[in-house]
Amino acid sequence: MTKISFEFYPPKTDEQRAQLDKTAAKLKTRNPEYVSCTFGAGGSTLSYTPETVERLHQTHGLDAAPHLSCVGGTRAELGELIERYKAMGCRRIVALRGDLPSGMGHAGEFRYATDLVEFIRREHDGFFHIEVGCYPECHPQSEDALADLRHFKAKVDAGADGAITQYFYNADAYFRFVDDARRLGIDVPIVPGIMPISNFSQLKRFSDACGAEIPRWIGKRMQAYGDDVEAIREFAADLVATMCRRLVEGGAPGLHFYTLNLSKPTLSVIARLA
Ligand code: FAD
Repeated sequence: MTKISFEFYPPKTDEQRAQLDKTAAKLKTRNPEYVSCTFGAGGSTLSYTPETVERLHQTHGLDAAPHLSCVGGTRAELGELIERYKAMGCRRIVALRGDLPSGMGHAGEFRYATDLVEFIRREHDGFFHIEVGCYPECHPQSEDALADLRHFKAKVDAGADGAITQYFYNADAYFRFVDDARRLGIDVPIVPGIMPISNFSQLKRFSDACGAEIPRWIGKRMQAYGDDVEAIREFAADLVATMCRRLVEGGAPGLHFYTLNLSKPTLSVIARLA
């Protein structure tokens, strides 16, 4: 079985914590290499992310990696947080720029994820395995696809050890992206980010914002199933599992699942990969 990892978001209420506990316990049975926990840019989850990382680590015995987004943060705040993760025993960090919530003007001391990668390398050389984000279908704010690749390379040159992609539903975009990255001299593992489909209309809204494309034929199929929830679930799991199989057969070094703190959609995909 290929290496897998799971991404969670930090719960803020007791009900959400109970949901995460259930999900983490179920997904742990799939032996993930590690799990990760997102971070709200601008500090909106400043206490929740470390709390969750600790919970995943101590209660669930999972190797938990915090995401750290630098936009809106100061060197001192981020430095303190990194020390806290070090003290918890974390050895892996997902280093990102993040997107400030609209209306939050203050941009902080770091402009791009490259600055954060440089900072972590400089202050903690070699201690953390640093993952960064990358975009097979191009980051929505980049000038163009080649500039985006060059910016990805800058993160690797600054010291990133690996990369996780934004999710996509087009395996060819991933393969072409990896080929282009290799041609540019990017030699770190590029793990595809996989978004199992649980709520299609929510996914569509979210995809528009983050620059992931949902092929038209998938939307048409979803529409045709109407209220047949079971048919939608089956179709979605088959679709994502088929893509995962292609990715792995084509050389993807692992699969990183965006779980949205739900176990079923991810487990339905994994069950089809056996
Ligand atoms: P960067 O690598 O800094 O790139 C941002 C944009 O700037 C790109 O368009 C890039 O081409 C451009 N750019 C980079 N360097 C330069 C330069 N020198 N000059 C001009 N342009 C430049 N967000 C969160 O808030 N919290 C999370 O926990 C989180 N987790 C994520 C996990 C993964 C795996 C991924 C793929 C994304 C995640 N995101 C998260 C979303 C991410 O923060 C956004 O996509 C954000 O807009 C870009 O972050 P980045 O680290 O890729 O930024």
